[in-house]
Amino acid sequence: MQTPFYQYDLALLNDTLNAAVAQATRYGYTIHYALKANANPALLKIISGAGFGADCVSGNEIKVALKNGFKPQGIVFAGVGKTDWEIEYAIEQNIQCIHCESVQEFQVIEQIAQKLNKTASIALRINPNVDANTHKSITTGLKENKFGMSAEEASLILNSANKYKNINLVGLHFHIGSQIMNMEVFKNLALEVNRIQERLQSKALPYLNLGGGLGIDYINPSINRIADFEGYFKTINQWLNPGKEQTIHFELGRSLVGQCGQLYTRVLYTKTTKSRNFAIVDAGMNALIRPALYGAIHRIENISKIEYPTIATYDVVGPICETTDCFGEQVNLPNTERGDLLVVHSCGAYAESMASDYNLRERPKSVFNHSGLALLPKH
Ligand SMILES: *Cc1c(COP(=O)(O)O)cnc(C)c1O
Repeated sequence: MQTPFYQYDLALLNDTLNAAVAQATRYGYTIHYALKANANPALLKIISGAGFGADCVSGNEIKVALKNGFKPQGIVFAGVGKTDWEIEYAIEQNIQCIHCESVQEFQVIEQIAQKLNKTASIALRINPNVDANTHKSITTGLKENKFGMSAEEASLILNSANKYKNINLVGLHFHIGSQIMNMEVFKNLALEVNRIQERLQSKALPYLNLGGGLGIDYINPSINRIADFEGYFKTINQWLNPGKEQTIHFELGRSLVGQCGQLYTRVLYTKTTKSRNFAIVDAGMNALIRPALYGAIHRIENISKIEYPTIATYDVVGPICETTDCFGEQVNLPNTERGDLLVVHSCGAYAESMASDYNLRERPKSVFNHSGLALLPKH
């Protein structure tokens, strides 16, 4: 098997989906899978088959969701810059709900729906100004962020909603960020949603969506293989005070697929400078951009030397002409040599979906493993 490649453990994916459903079902919650985390068709078919809805952030994601088994009535569509064709397509496909992010977008949706002679179901995305306490590049719910509208703007729309004949205003949407590990943040979100709902008197509306953002353990992925769905939904249930008739929706991406994927890459060269050992591998930031983009940490193992003691630290770097093309600095590894196979853990979310062909490199292929055991390629 030619490296680099992504490997997906479908047994772990199924276990994760089952755990999420089991916890969400306790409270009657609905989960939409955020396609942007990973749109690999094999994964999408499993996730749609398990009964999840879809959360899309582009027209093409809606197309791919429909093609891979998601039902229109379970698809929701967010995004701060939807084009006219995307809005048109979403309305024509009768998806469940468009998450509208500004007053102007609301008017555009009304015009497009009118032109199509259809009714568009809309939820207003409100920026609740709740700090997700995560990396600043993946924080979306602060008032300086570009996402959503203020409660004041939502109030203006709600008060004039009956003017808009081609819009069915179904409720509110929130999404404050990603890789959130601290349940206190979700408590704060729930409390802020309560305040906003009181203020907007929106509890009679049928739909309430709290977005995604539940984090995974990048440091110890083999110990914490499944995200804390129990704590997450329990926290929301404990603090959220929804209307009696409201259905509660979530949009989970990373927590559903993050741990089931790994990136396999081979060491091309090693070299030592005065201050560092480098392991130069055949995968680059075009295959996994999270460390370069967010300073993200991924666990890296040398599986060719699995029985050997960890004796040195290496900077594990890719071949691309960028200093940020580095998967990990000062990573503890056994004595590592040319030809060794390294595995970068927790690459199921925002790895393959963010891949590019920068430097005209091939995008890695994906392989699937149904047994839950590592499928180790031969040298
Ligand atoms: C990215 C995104 C999500 C999913 O976030 P995760 O952290 O992967 O769970 C959900 N909703 C919206 C609107 C998003 O943009």
